[in-house]
Amino acid sequence: MILAAPVIFSPVERLEGTVTKIEGSASWVDAGEKRLRCDLRGKLSRRLNLRLAVGDRVRLATVTDEQGVIEEILPRRTVLERARSYKRDQVVVANVDQVILVVSVLEPEYKRNFIDRLLAAVEAERLEPLLVFNKLDLSDERYRLVCAEDAKIYRQLRYSVIGTSVESGEGIQDLRAAMKDKISAVTGPSGVGKSSLLNAVVPGLGLRTGEVSESSGRGRHTTTHAELVRLPEGGYVADTPGLRAFEMKGVEPRDLPLLYRDIAAFQGTCRFRDCSHRDEPGCSVIPAVQEGKIDEERYESYLKLRQELEAESATQKASRKR
Ligand code: GDP
Ligand code: ZN
Repeated sequence: MILAAPVIFSPVERLEGTVTKIEGSASWVDAGEKRLRCDLRGKLSRRLNLRLAVGDRVRLATVTDEQGVIEEILPRRTVLERARSYKRDQVVVANVDQVILVVSVLEPEYKRNFIDRLLAAVEAERLEPLLVFNKLDLSDERYRLVCAEDAKIYRQLRYSVIGTSVESGEGIQDLRAAMKDKISAVTGPSGVGKSSLLNAVVPGLGLRTGEVSESSGRGRHTTTHAELVRLPEGGYVADTPGLRAFEMKGVEPRDLPLLYRDIAAFQGTCRFRDCSHRDEPGCSVIPAVQEGKIDEERYESYLKLRQELEAESATQKASRKR
């Protein structure tokens, strides 16, 4: 005897997941192996200041196997905002675990000073940086040694550093491993190979490469929300490289020493509590530089950046007085 097929009412399931994409009032949530299109429950969406961001962890109730309703947004661990020059601070990606800072060894050649600046900016956001030196294929043996020396300085500061080449495939596997099970965002100067690296890490992603539009800060990156792309080995990466040109705006000059790990290590050891580590008597940072305990180039980039921040904050104060 053949039994009539039972009518299936899919029971409501309560799941936890990660928001990967937002379009208008709809969002896509990965919950385990399920991928659901969700709406926000009425009273949640009406709460005006509540905005969903990709990367948000949410609790949802299923409606069907492919649809759900978000009932709760869980507290964010970290927040990555669009550069402050945009309309207003807007969360673009929530819960980012690491910011991948990409530079290239040549074409364009990285500057240590610039790396220090990016690292400080990421530290200011309380995010974890991962430093990538791309285009290794362009360097000869001698120049490779120079890059390796630089990489060593950052590793000694407990930063993760990976050398890669999209051209030869070198280091791509290491990069994949470093991205596994994390939410990553990618940033760095134009033309260093950010899109190419993402394409290498995520097969089939198909980001356009070799475009210069990014230098204006606008161009193709005008969408409100980044999308999180699922990595084959687990984890996500925001699909908009150059997501944020980390600016140092809002960083007080006196806080800068805390954003340099090597200098922060001496916090509280100078005679003056607010020591700028420039020329104060009883400074413990200056002798540390002289004795080689702090890398001299790092110290110089600190001085330069500090001066810039001070000049900036002076202009701001002056314009407020007017
Ligand atoms: P983005 O602006 O940082 O996203 O850089 P793109 O990914 O668009 O790459 C800029 C240019 O560098 C393109 O012409 C790429 O083909 C090239 N490129 C990217 N990675 C490498 C690499 O590892 N080696 C070499 N030789 N060229 C690369
Ligand atoms: Zn000092």
